[in-house]
Amino acid sequence: MSRYVMALDQGTTSSRAILFDQAGSLVAIDQHEFTQYFPEPGWVEHDPMEIWDSQLRAARGVLAKAGARGSDLVAIGITNQRETALIWDRASGDPVYRAIVWQSRQTASICDQLRSRGLEAEVRARTGLLIDAYFSGTKIRFILDSIDAGQKRAEAGELAFGTVDTWLLYKLTRGRVHATEYSNASRTLIYNIHQRDWDDLLLEALRVPRAMLPQVRDSSGVFGLADPEWFGAEIPIAGIAGDQQAALFGQGCLAPGQTKNTYGTGCFLLMNTGSEARVSNNGLITTIGWGIDGRFAYALEGSIFVAGAAVQWLRDGLGLLANAAESEAAARSVDDTGGVYLVPAFVGLGAPYWDDRARGTLVGLTLGTTREHVIRATLEGIAYQTRDVVECLQADSGLPLETLRVDGGASQNDFLMQFQADILGVPVQRPAVLEVTAMGAAALAGIAVGFWQDASEIEASDAGGRRFEPSLSADRRASLYAGWKRAVERSRDWVQEDSVREEGDA
Ligand code: ADP
Repeated sequence: MSRYVMALDQGTTSSRAILFDQAGSLVAIDQHEFTQYFPEPGWVEHDPMEIWDSQLRAARGVLAKAGARGSDLVAIGITNQRETALIWDRASGDPVYRAIVWQSRQTASICDQLRSRGLEAEVRARTGLLIDAYFSGTKIRFILDSIDAGQKRAEAGELAFGTVDTWLLYKLTRGRVHATEYSNASRTLIYNIHQRDWDDLLLEALRVPRAMLPQVRDSSGVFGLADPEWFGAEIPIAGIAGDQQAALFGQGCLAPGQTKNTYGTGCFLLMNTGSEARVSNNGLITTIGWGIDGRFAYALEGSIFVAGAAVQWLRDGLGLLANAAESEAAARSVDDTGGVYLVPAFVGLGAPYWDDRARGTLVGLTLGTTREHVIRATLEGIAYQTRDVVECLQADSGLPLETLRVDGGASQNDFLMQFQADILGVPVQRPAVLEVTAMGAAALAGIAVGFWQDASEIEASDAGGRRFEPSLSADRRASLYAGWKRAVERSRDWVQEDSVREEGDA
């Protein structure tokens, strides 16, 4: 009889379900997209019931594709879009508002209020985060203010808050379990990552009653049983982590200093810093990777807003490419960029520059510049930005980077990965199976039920993957990177009017 772990990967645009067998091989995958709501410029919302329905369809779909039954599942793992906030009525289980998505800027004014009350340093010290509409806490406030008697009902214990993991767990167990785990809790802006408890000062600042909060548990362990109504058998839900932390686990970054970069629309770099929460002096955030049996892995995290999206811009904005994959051959067809740099500051710059007013910049053009030079400069720009964040990670952690582990759609580009290794002076390791996020969630669940003994049995193995060794001389690396730094300077502080924030929001 076949035995599988099912990973539910609830993302921003689609819900996916993936089956892994005991060898850690991917057996089948199913995926369903759902509606994005943009009620006002800069706002992004999801329908919680559609999140659940699409996730359930994917889960049933993947079983059908594999010819498997619910009773073949030893455990379910959940990984999810982070920071997205939901509130529902405990009695009926009905959502009281749409889910407010991580990208949504609708709580910017609540953030301004927190800042004007001088809470920035407290937030940083307690949560490891910055005051930003990105995180969940201000979204809870927004929902409570948007519904009838929200505050009163929350205080009376009639309402439940959850991130997407908590919502799926609640639905899967038919309302029997209201819980989350450390990695998701650490993204809420109301969770103290050092004391590992909801933080009274921040709860008070946002007037969020404890009565509505989920219990915070280990990332690996049995949270509850999926009701037999869903898959015809009771199945333990045994592992949960936010998507980037699950990817860190799935990449096998289990020791301090180990680092992964996910190359998607943007880039997410996370470095495991071990049992110590390191505070950044360079605009990175501190987060909990996972907590298992009283042991915690913390991570430093840096995000790059535009990475693969710059390649999409070459395709859709400039019409230079028919598809993203074509960028590789075009970049290889020239020896270098001919001195051209593209700084993809299309929505400003994140770490370590934090410049809202920076804008995309193409410099070093000559009459000899061709389409191929521009394409190559775009791919190189992704790698340079990654080096910028890696330097912050190293400075903040004091840990050297030995290998950069990579995943995400744009990591399929061999040219980009080789250039990344060259410009870092550090090898880049790409696993054969790029579904490391789902793998991480499956591993957390499978380990909890004893299906696997430890992460090494499932994590992205180096076998069949590809390793890119740096091959550039130190001089050349230094001069190319110096050119990048000059190009970044040209991109900075470009937008002058005061409307930057609105423009960025739209
Ligand atoms: P997300 O999860 O953010 O939607 P994915 O991991 O699916 O992103 O990656 C998609 C992104 O990667 C797109 O922005 C696309 O332009 C880019 N991309 C995909 N394949 C390649 C490639 N071969 N070379 C460069 N960029 C690519």
